[in-house]
This record gives sequence, C-alpha cells and structure tokens, in this order.
Amino acid sequence: MQVPLLDLKAQYAAIKNEVLAAVSEVLESQQCIGGPKVAELEEKIAAISDCKYAVGTSSGTDAILNSLMSLDIAAGDEVITTPFTFFATVGCIARVGAKPVFVDIDPKTYNIDSGLIERAITKKTRAIMPVHLFGQMADMGPIMQLANRYNLAVIEDAAQSITSTYKGRKAGSIGRAGCFSFFPSKNLGAAGDGGMVVTNDKDLYNRLKIMRNHGANPKYYHKIIGGNFRLDPVQAAVLLVKLPHLDRWSEARRRNAAFYDEVFRQNEVVQTPYISPDCASIFNQYVIRVPKRDELIACLKQKGVGCEVYYPHPMHLQECFSYLGHRQGDFPESERAAKEVLALPIYPELTDDMKNYVAESVLSFVSTVE
Ligand SMILES: *Cc1c(COP(=O)(O)O)cnc(C)c1O
Repeated sequence: MQVPLLDLKAQYAAIKNEVLAAVSEVLESQQCIGGPKVAELEEKIAAISDCKYAVGTSSGTDAILNSLMSLDIAAGDEVITTPFTFFATVGCIARVGAKPVFVDIDPKTYNIDSGLIERAITKKTRAIMPVHLFGQMADMGPIMQLANRYNLAVIEDAAQSITSTYKGRKAGSIGRAGCFSFFPSKNLGAAGDGGMVVTNDKDLYNRLKIMRNHGANPKYYHKIIGGNFRLDPVQAAVLLVKLPHLDRWSEARRRNAAFYDEVFRQNEVVQTPYISPDCASIFNQYVIRVPKRDELIACLKQKGVGCEVYYPHPMHLQECFSYLGHRQGDFPESERAAKEVLALPIYPELTDDMKNYVAESVLSFVSTVE
C-alpha cells in the first residue's frame, strides 16, 4: 500500500467544481489585484480568529516580514524566537536587520520554553516571536506577562495553527499580530502561495495595509519603504471555497491523531505528541519521537509510507546564521528534537486501512528496536 504524507488531490476532487467556478469568476471580472475576494477573505479570517482586522499577504513569510516592518523593527533591535522552526521565522527577523535571539524549546511541546525567555531579554529586545508549531499554540500566558512587563511586541508565527486555541483564545489574537500561511500543506491551503496578518490594533492594521503596497499613501507618495506583499485574488477565491470546510478537516485530523495515539499507547518506544491541557491543536502535523529515527524513515520508505522530518537542522546551526556565533550544544532540546522527530501522514482524507497500515508499519519497525 502507498500512503503519501499528504494527498492534495483527494481534497481537490471533493471541491473541484466550486473551485473552478470561483477562479473563473475572478478571471471573468479581471480584477487581478485586490478586490472583493481578498476583502471577503480578510473579513472571514479576522472573524474566525477573534480579531478585528486582517491583511492578506503574498505568503506566510511576507505576513511575518510585513509585521516586523510595520512594527518598525530594524537594525539594532533584537527579536526572541525559537531555533526549532521553519526558516521563514528567523529569516524575516534577519532580513529587517534585527538580531534573532534564540531560546530553546520545551521538549514536550516543541514550542519555545517560556521559562527560559526572561534571561534572553536585553535593553535591545523589541519583540518575542513564538511559533505555534505543528498546530499547537505556544505557552502564551507567561509569554504575554513578560511582554507586558518589558514592553515587548508579541508576533505570533501561527503559520501552522490557524483556529488553534490556548485557554479558549484563538491563534493570532493574543499578541500584537498573528501571521498565517496558506501554503498548500497548511490546514487551510491555497493553490499556491498566500498568507495573512491578523491584529486587534487599528494603527498597526493601517500600517500593514500601506506597507504591503510599497508603503504608498496616497498612491505614488511614500513616507515609508514597503514592499509588494499583496494576496492574489485567485488564491483568495480558492481559499473562500475551502474555508467552510476548515473545521471539519481539522476535526478529521484530530480523529486521526487520536487513532494513532491509541495504537501507539501500549508502546514504550514511540513517543506520541503531547498536547497541553490549555490547548486544542489543529494537528497540521502528527509528530512522533523515536530512537533510531533515520532507520525508521528508511523502513517506512520501503513500505510506501510517506514521512518527513520537521525540522532536521535547527536555525542556530544554519550556515547563514553563523555570524550569530552559535555552536552545537547551545540549544540541546532543539538539537535532540531535530534528531528524533518524525511526521506521519495525518491529512483528513486518510482511510482506516491507510491509518492501520501506517501504524502497523511503525510498530513492526519499533518491535525490532525493543
Ligand atoms: C509555512 C510556515 C511559514 C511560511 O509560510 P509561507 O506561506 O510558506 O511563506 C512560516 N513559519 C512557519 C512556522 C511555517 O510553518
């Protein structure tokens, strides 16, 4: 049996006619930049995120970049974040000229360890950027306490966690800005790149909108230097078709996660995802932890089971960040996670046979390890 890590064709087949009609509507209108689809999506994403405002962007990366630029974070500033994340989080901090300051992760949740943040704060710290990894929000209570005490902006990298909650509050709604990605593999994925910033801060909202359009206000007059960070209306149209299905898809992911949790429960070798009682995860990824991880990958490949390591090389050890002067051992939990984690297929359309096959394939390998 073949079980890919993700099968977007299964999802597309179920909504194909609606998607084609919506895309055709945009093409017929020839409203190729901005327009009603982008505005409608912004309104709806703000609403499901319990935020007042939303600004569509060209990608999740540009949502983060726009947030940093709009908060005027630049050379001489420091931004605290996690080294165990996708590159874009840290890449954007560096691109605005600020210094990424890393804090290690909590090995249970893989999110930034809130207990280690305070000692990383200096006079130059301007912001904390927690990443809500794999669909579960970071420990926002203590993070917001520190942010308030030291007057820091919190930018939530919620690229993997749209509609996820912490103590009942939605991802993106707790900090000054929340950044979503509509990369096709996210729970709400476009037919290409897309992203969004949500906020409850009206001044920041206005600045985000100006910044995404080259900083122009009015047109052709620039007080600030922005970029082209606009969301494509064709992508907005696709996302509007998918949005009503999002909760059902995330629920199916949670059911799949519960299935794996149950099968792996009796096994001491496979460590299943830990979800904090404060959080409801949307399971963008189902990530287990195993010794001899690389041997398991080889075994799963051979059996036709898709899997992937998110992420194999922590940010503090990336060549492009060598100027920060970090070395192996600086963030041990991130380094250990990079060696032990493995994401298994969790997408909503998995059949019972497929889930059973994935679970059996993992268990047959680990029984040889025990
Ligand atoms: C996907 C992702 C991004 C970037 O989003 P793009 O839309 O691919 O630019 C940023 N941060 C995290 C944690 C992500 O998973």
